[in-house]
Amino acid sequence: MDYNALAELLFPDVTKTPDYYENLYPQRELPEGAKVTRFAPSPTGFVHFGGLFPVLVGERLAHQSGGVFYLRIEDTDSKREVEGAEYDLIKVFENFGVNFDESIVKEGKYGPYRQSERREIYRTYAKELVKNGKAYPCFCTEEDMQALRERQEAEKVTPGYYGEYVRCRELSLDEIKEKINAGMPYVLRFRSEGSPDNKIKFTDLVKGAIEVTENHIDHVLLKSDGMPTYHMAHAVDDHLMRTTHVVRGEEWLSSLPYHIQLFAALGFKLPKYLHISQLMRKEGEAKKKLSKRDKGAGMSYYISEGYPAESVLEYVMTLLNSNFEDWRRANPDANLNDFPFSIKKMSASGSLFDLVKLGDVSKNVISRMTADNVYEKLSAWAKEFDEEFYGVISKDPDYTKRILQIGRGGNKPRKDLETWKDAKGYMGFFFPEYFRFDEKPEGFSKEDIVPILEEFSEQYDTNDEQNVWFDKVKAVGEKHGFCSNIKEYKANPDAYKGSVADVSAFIRAAVTGKLNSPDLCIVMKILGRDESLNRIKKFKETL
Ligand code: GLU
Repeated sequence: MDYNALAELLFPDVTKTPDYYENLYPQRELPEGAKVTRFAPSPTGFVHFGGLFPVLVGERLAHQSGGVFYLRIEDTDSKREVEGAEYDLIKVFENFGVNFDESIVKEGKYGPYRQSERREIYRTYAKELVKNGKAYPCFCTEEDMQALRERQEAEKVTPGYYGEYVRCRELSLDEIKEKINAGMPYVLRFRSEGSPDNKIKFTDLVKGAIEVTENHIDHVLLKSDGMPTYHMAHAVDDHLMRTTHVVRGEEWLSSLPYHIQLFAALGFKLPKYLHISQLMRKEGEAKKKLSKRDKGAGMSYYISEGYPAESVLEYVMTLLNSNFEDWRRANPDANLNDFPFSIKKMSASGSLFDLVKLGDVSKNVISRMTADNVYEKLSAWAKEFDEEFYGVISKDPDYTKRILQIGRGGNKPRKDLETWKDAKGYMGFFFPEYFRFDEKPEGFSKEDIVPILEEFSEQYDTNDEQNVWFDKVKAVGEKHGFCSNIKEYKANPDAYKGSVADVSAFIRAAVTGKLNSPDLCIVMKILGRDESLNRIKKFKETL
């Protein structure tokens, strides 16, 4: 077979050579040890939460080493593509503070960054494979392939185009010419020299040393529309874009033997691989894949629920690196990016998705933010997802910030908020728009409560600090038969009407409309004397 003639017959349009692209995309000039990683999604319109895992790993590996983290849009499958999805995807990741050094909106020297625009490049390398006798056209139709599948199923053998099942491998140049002239569509297949009897040893940086079976299937390199399959594009792109570490889902591990062969056939150096486990969720005792319909599967969920990006990233990091939580305890206020991310601390088996854990992480993260920061993020969220609330909290930003300041700073900050959505329930009572008498202390009569509230109101002074404030509460309670010492009260409850905790609850219910609230003395200072006493007065009328 004259492979050069075959290459010209199949690719008359291809005039460039691999050398041309090798020169166009030289090795990147980066410091020693710098890693080049990428995120390579297919723009289907749905940004899966699981994507955050390879994204964070790739981003950390690149940026921690002074390397490059880029985005490549894998849109060679026009059936799956959704118009504009790639821009949405970039926005979603931007929302989470993930920025790509190179992408379709930030072209670097290694573009185009959209596979559909790299057709000529793939075809140049495909032509080279044909020239070297490593690829051939296959004219088998969809029906032929269906018949093959059925035959192999009946024979209970590995499905695929290989060995005795191959029909187009040995076609002569004349036969091929004839079919092409007759307008028959064809795909380009890889001519595999592998055998299922051969094992290859391979080290995946996450999975460790593994043994895989050599690929013996003549997989498709170019589809009948001339576009590459994932495999061909992976080899050509990651080589020419100079990726050093391929971080991808473990579902690609089974294709690895083919990729190893393909890189060798193309004369490319194999990059390092990190195959990341699927994100699982628990259903009873069973573990299931987090699928599109599950709560929390889409990234947009976290944005609309109002999880700060920091919380989500921090949560993912707890799943990615086993020592992250220890580090966080030792460095509660450090920036997430100061954490020394390490491949060695990644678990080879899957992570369990857990919204409760995310909630805990998020409470911590929010509790350590400054009031200004919380105000900024909360109002940005509300502006988009709860306009009315936005209007309320942004009317007097200083007032809102004083509220948000409660319990911040110090070693044990309050942990009231898990998401921005929680904010209305937590602090709504500060605003007339949301204040209502929702909860009342149980088991006490109007006669128990009213005199206490009246006397408390008479003595109330906004300048009182917490201890003075509380002494007054205790004194009023004592006078009316409420024990001011909880221990004593518990030892002898029948001797009293109640305890100082009940007295506080009366005031709390009156001032906040609820039985739980942040520090009442501070709450009253923020509300101001008039508003606080007015609420107490109104409360009495509801009893
Ligand atoms: N487009 C592939 C996917 O979405 C990319 C896999 C890879 O990172 O190589 O699964």
